[in-house]
Amino acid sequence: MDWTAPNRLRIDGDALVANWRTLARMSGRAACGAAVKANGYGLGAREVATRLVGAGCRDLFVATWGEARALGDVGPATVSVLHGVRDEDAPLVGLPAVRPVLNTVEQVRRWQAMGGGLCDVMVDTGMNRLGLSVDDVAGGALKGLLIETLMSHLACADEDHPLNARQLAAFAGLAGRTSARRLSLANSAGIALGADYAFDLTRPGLALYGGIPRAELADMIRPVVGIEAQILQRRTVRAGETVGYNATWTAEQDTEVATINLGYADGYWRGFSDCGTARGPGDEVLPVIGRVSMDLVAVDVSSIPSIAEGAWISLADTLPAASVASGMSQYELLTGLGQRFDRLWT
Ligand SMILES: *Cc1c(COP(=O)(O)O)cnc(C)c1O
Repeated sequence: MDWTAPNRLRIDGDALVANWRTLARMSGRAACGAAVKANGYGLGAREVATRLVGAGCRDLFVATWGEARALGDVGPATVSVLHGVRDEDAPLVGLPAVRPVLNTVEQVRRWQAMGGGLCDVMVDTGMNRLGLSVDDVAGGALKGLLIETLMSHLACADEDHPLNARQLAAFAGLAGRTSARRLSLANSAGIALGADYAFDLTRPGLALYGGIPRAELADMIRPVVGIEAQILQRRTVRAGETVGYNATWTAEQDTEVATINLGYADGYWRGFSDCGTARGPGDEVLPVIGRVSMDLVAVDVSSIPSIAEGAWISLADTLPAASVASGMSQYELLTGLGQRFDRLWT
């Protein structure tokens, strides 16, 4: 048998596709794309893209040209590179079905100097992150460009914030002012803000992978990722003894403790210290106790007398619950998942 990685990610391909279909339905007449940057939010961009393109997704978003290359053949879909184009990207320009999202006047000039061709453009409508200004657009900065999608990005879509409506109005004011065939504003949370935000194309990421950025999505989005780790050692900790670095946890009574092979180097963050939750094979609740170490964490297995070295347990918090417990965003929890996992798709 081949050597396998010590830990497992169970990734539910049906749930991924179901989430995309849900978001596509919520997008109304707009097409629904998929953000697969950062290696598909940690799950594996190629596997994600293959499934979503198979389901009908035609617009993929990555951050860099390297990520576009790593996607490989995406069949009938196209890939938009959100960071635009740098001089250093020139060797990859021309990859089939890949185009930049131009963010600055300088990137527009560079793209035209490289020969131009179909591109997307990001306009900043109030986030002050990436994008040309509305004034740049009004001043003719996009003249002569062949634009597929004109897009902007919402700063506060996961909250009820007055900036949402201001960005919507600023973006809607650009309709018909450029050569763009399509307009696109909404990420996952933006889709839940309502039909006005959908325009021609939506760009969900987080919610595809089981993240819940707004309460409206809570009952509609299915969990996609589960973490499994293995017990390396089991011991009895006597009342009054402590567990782990800095002795933050003290046994009030004799306690059965399992040390499992998962830690913050795997993306199981220190914020889960003394508050994370694991589950045994029979779905028993196993509290995480003590500090999360780099590669190890302890759980209280007193409720499962029979559990032994080598047994698999799952870290079963949903993404929203894990975010509350750890103080990390749902985005960080996904993209932090490291290299010590076999990514097992079902
Ligand atoms: C990452 C990203 C998205 C996806 O956002 P989610 O909040 O993960 O849905 C959409 N558009 C842009 C420009 C992005 O950078």
